[in-house]
Amino acid sequence: MRRTKIVASLGPATDAVAVLTDVVRAGVDIARINLSHGTAAEHCRRAAALRQCAAAEGRSVGLLLDLQGPKIRVERFRQGPVMLEIGAPFTIDVTFPPGEGTAACVGTSYRRLPQDLVVGDTLLLDDGNLALGVEALSDTAVTTKVIQGGLLSDHKGINRRGGGLTAPALTEKDREDIELAATVAADYIGVSFVRDADDIETVREWLREAGSQAHIVAKIERVEALENIDAIIDASDVIMVARGDLGVEIGDAELPGVQKRLIAAAQQANKVVITATQMMQSMVTSLQPTRAEVLDVANAVLDGTDAVMLSAETAMGQHPPRVIEAMDRICQGAEQHAGVTTPRERGDARFGDTDEAIAMAAMYTANHYSISGILAMTESGATAKWMSRITSAIPIFAMTRWATTERRTALYRGVYPVAFDPTGFSPDDINQQAMTELKSRQMVKNGDQLVVTQGDWSGISGRTNSMKIITVDDINEARPVREKSG
Ligand code: PGA
Ligand code: MN
Repeated sequence: MRRTKIVASLGPATDAVAVLTDVVRAGVDIARINLSHGTAAEHCRRAAALRQCAAAEGRSVGLLLDLQGPKIRVERFRQGPVMLEIGAPFTIDVTFPPGEGTAACVGTSYRRLPQDLVVGDTLLLDDGNLALGVEALSDTAVTTKVIQGGLLSDHKGINRRGGGLTAPALTEKDREDIELAATVAADYIGVSFVRDADDIETVREWLREAGSQAHIVAKIERVEALENIDAIIDASDVIMVARGDLGVEIGDAELPGVQKRLIAAAQQANKVVITATQMMQSMVTSLQPTRAEVLDVANAVLDGTDAVMLSAETAMGQHPPRVIEAMDRICQGAEQHAGVTTPRERGDARFGDTDEAIAMAAMYTANHYSISGILAMTESGATAKWMSRITSAIPIFAMTRWATTERRTALYRGVYPVAFDPTGFSPDDINQQAMTELKSRQMVKNGDQLVVTQGDWSGISGRTNSMKIITVDDINEARPVREKSG
């Protein structure tokens, strides 16, 4: 069983039901819809198709809606892409009519661009494929000289090397898209270009107002976010190492170190982390990954990431299921490496509450005794999340009666969601019934010892306060089911 989770972006390439079914079968854990592309109707259709497919395949797949945020872009060109030659002058003018761009000048929707720059700055276009040196500034225009040339097409992104573009993180469109997140019952919402913890608080407030239970993924892709990283991690549920935009802003040399730091910081703070962008880029067209991609995915696993993410590879690629199969294989291979599963308990930590204390006790016990699995009876999934912050080779079964909890815990490293409603059984029978459920899924077998964590009346009070060790055997099977009361 793979411990590292796979996030795959949906798009035109996954729209055919047969492809989406194969994507789900190949093992996607979280499906991502990027709200930068497509219409609300399209997003709703894709979300519904995903839910249908996952249900048909009997898998819990979470849904991540990724807000567009204030990505700064050039406007459109009059006659398709233009060629920018090294040394040529090029102007970005905020008053230039959209749709009229040429090889000499183009518009941008970001009105404050000239105010955010100084002469000598470097602008990076199209994820760093083109570079422009800022030579002069007026109230409305940025005059540059092309440092690195190439083809520039409509709506390509603009970054400033070193960060410092002051566009606010959240737009009117993001606010509308949060309503959409409530409508499609998204499990996670991605916040792009986060600057500080206030941005996260704003999204949390908007989610609450919209009636959404989505957990928040803070995408770390600006220099400003790195400067405020502790507060951002604190305020959010998950962080994403958004290597695409981040790499452009901080430069490629810094990126590996920052990835490692962010993954460690998230884990330390009991938060979850996704590593994203260009992990298997060549597989947009190619049938197999490059060796560099194999090593990149494996390294993220070794770093301790909860999940690895696919973007264009699945949304627009030629064979999405095959990319997921390759990623699945590489993750499982990397997980064989001793360092990935060697327990690192927190000998000096103080625990914040009862659930956390029990979760840590369970991991300590499981990692130091012959235990085949951990059975966490959980309402919100929090116990399973705490457990999965501790490195281990032992599977954590998140047994829950809530579909939202199943889909949310699908993101956590080493956690396997299992639908199980304890409220139909007498308290004496719950553990036996849970073991029977796991046996029927071939997740445990006779003779296995399991650690069980639960509340007094599991699934009723919701507060985990006890831990127990049980052995799987036949005697425990098939007790009569009590009528569900109250
Ligand atoms: P994006 O974010 O795919 O929405 O741009 C991820 C990244 O920048 O790496
Ligand atoms: Mn990005």
